[in-house]
This record gives sequence, C-alpha cells and structure tokens, in this order.
Amino acid sequence: MLRPNMYYADLKDSYLFYNIAQKTKKYLEDHPGAHLYRMGIGDVSLPLCDAVIEALHIAADDQANKQSFNGYMPECGAPFLRKAVKDYYGSRGIELAEDEVFISSGASDELGDILDLFDRSNRSLIIEPAYPAYVDANVMGGREIVHLSSGRDNGFLPLPGEDTEADLLYICSPNNPTGAVFSREQLKAWVDYANKNGSVILFDAAYEAFIEDESLPHSIFEIEGARTCAIEICSLSKTAGFTGTRLGYTVIPHELERSGMNLNKMWVRNRTTKTNGVSYVIQRGAAAVFTPEGQKQIHQNIAIYKNNAKVLMKALDKLGIWYTGGKNAPYIWMECPKGMGSWEFFDLLLDKVQIVGTPGEGFGKCGEGYFRFSTFGDPDDTAKAAELLLGLLG
Ligand code: PLP
Repeated sequence: MLRPNMYYADLKDSYLFYNIAQKTKKYLEDHPGAHLYRMGIGDVSLPLCDAVIEALHIAADDQANKQSFNGYMPECGAPFLRKAVKDYYGSRGIELAEDEVFISSGASDELGDILDLFDRSNRSLIIEPAYPAYVDANVMGGREIVHLSSGRDNGFLPLPGEDTEADLLYICSPNNPTGAVFSREQLKAWVDYANKNGSVILFDAAYEAFIEDESLPHSIFEIEGARTCAIEICSLSKTAGFTGTRLGYTVIPHELERSGMNLNKMWVRNRTTKTNGVSYVIQRGAAAVFTPEGQKQIHQNIAIYKNNAKVLMKALDKLGIWYTGGKNAPYIWMECPKGMGSWEFFDLLLDKVQIVGTPGEGFGKCGEGYFRFSTFGDPDDTAKAAELLLGLLG
C-alpha cells in the first residue's frame, strides 16, 4: 500500500501571514476605504531596472529566430551567466571556478532541494528567529532540528557553543527577519566549528547587496576555510526585484567533500537529473544585472529602500526604541514598546495608525516581544508611517 511522506503530518500550520491577512481584511471590512501602511511582507515594490528589461526583450526576440533560438538550456546554468556570477564574486576578491556556480530559479527552491545531498539522519541547526522555510523543509525531510535561540543579549548573532551538536548549519546574513549581519570574526567561528566537526554551512546570502558597511562580509567565501565547509545560496529577488521573475544562484566549491563524496559533483548529478535548467530569457535578464549599467541601476533601487529604512530608523531613534537591522539589511527588527507582546503590538498599530508589520513571534518563539518592518514599501507610505509611529508612541 502506498505510504505518503508521513513527515508532512509533523508540519505546524504557519498562521503568521494568514493571521495578518485575516486581521487586515477584518479591519478593512469594519473601516471601508481606510488606507493601510503595508510594511509587513518582504516583497519588492519597484519594477525591474531598464538594463534587465532591455535584455529580456532582446532575449525574447532571440527565441523568434531559428539562428538565435535556444531550446533546453544547460541544467547547471548558461555559461554566460555562470561567468557573470563568477566575475561578480571576483570583483570582491573571491576566486571561483565557473563550474562552482549553479544557476537556479531562486533561493527558496535551492534551500529545499539542496537537502537531497544529505542523509536524513543529519541534524539541522537553525538560528532563530528564522526564515520559516528552513524549519519546514527539514520537517518534510524528517530531519531532527536543533533550534538555536538568539536575542538582544547577542544582537541576534549567536555563535556555536561547547554543547552545539549539528551537521547542517543554516546561517542567514544579512538576516531575515532581524536584519542583523555577522562580522568576519563571528562567521570565522562558525566556519571553524564546521571544519572541526565535519558539518556543512548552508549560507543564505539573499540580502548581501544591502550591506553598506565595508567591514562586513557579503559572502561566506570571504572567510578563510569556508571552501571546505560551506554552500552559498543567493537570489536576485531582493537584489534586483526578481521576486516574480525568478532567478538565483548557488556556489558549491570543488573542495567540499564529506565521507569521500564530492558535493559539487553530487549537485551536478542532482541538477542534471531533476531539472532542465532555467529559462534562456530569464538568464539573459539576470546577466544584465551583473553589467556595470545593471549594477548601477539596481543600486539606485536599493537606495530607495535604504532611504525608507533611514526614515524608520530615525523615528525609532527618536522614540528610544531598541532595534537591529535597517543599515545593512532591508528589515528592521524592533523591540515592542512597554513590554508588549508582538501580536498585541500588531493590533495596536493596525487599530490606531493603520500600519501593518510582522509580529516577531511568527519567526520562532524567541521572536516574541519583537516586531519586523520591511523597508520594501512605498517611500511616501513609509514616511507617513514613521510620522504616525512618532505620534502614537512619542
Ligand atoms: N532566503 C531568505 C532569507 C528570504 O527572505 C527569501 C525571501 O524572502 C528567500 C530566501 C527566497 O528567495 P527567492 O525569492 O529567491 O526564492
């Protein structure tokens, strides 16, 4: 008799975004025509930049002619895009081989799929509060999860302890939801731990392009020793507004081996079996992100989000509220005022000033008492929301 994957029964329903949607819907039913300041979800609001749009149009036309038409693309990525990503890392002093770069349809896809490389008996360490997909992908795979809580005392940047025992280590920096960024020294502690214990770091660099403090690492491969213990998963979703266009990349160094198995070769085998590559048109659009013009334009968009962050941070500073993030990340993670719970604060903001944010509790138990603002929203709305916060909490 067929047996489904019974680990799905262990998944907890994620009520977070459902509850937020229900509460905002009810508010709008009770207050028809009210304007909501939406700073909850992490989707981008600006369109793709001109360089990308132009490349997409040209690529669509390529598909109209026999001479320039492309059928199946190479499973691990088009050579032109693998090279563009390699050169992007090279511009920051990280030497990669082109075949260490794998092109994907996005970071979420990879964060789930990459688990194919690891035995079910491995324990996965997840630093909380965390991006919810890490936990769920591991529950579906039947893996034991080690929840590592973080808090204000360590700036939401915990390090491995004497008693840490885990095989797969999820590190997201800059972090969603906290916006906190690990320093080189802190990442070195994780790299040393992984090399010493034979663990593998899954480094989620989805927000690297938001780092403005030059002393902070954009990539785990800036850290000595990472080539023997880390996989980096990245995305153009937030960097270049590709949330609906879909493109990501994954770096697996040749040196990464465990029990005589080479993880780069295993991933080639996996991709050539389980995918037929990413669309030619989208890969052309993505390659435009890495041109000088593309880089300039995406950073103009990022600057708009960063200005949103500045406006909100200024208001929180005036209010004397503790927070992380905002400077090197598109999220601000604030302590709820007056010891309020995170849903209590959500309700207060919605009822009194029509601001919608995300309660920290939705990212793990230790997120209780905190609240996340996304800075991907409309600049006018963000400025007004900052004013309203000052009026409400000042
Ligand atoms: N990783 C983190 C930390 C994210 O916050 C997100 C999206 O919000 C992703 C990965 C997913 O990125 P993608 O759109 O490439 O699937």
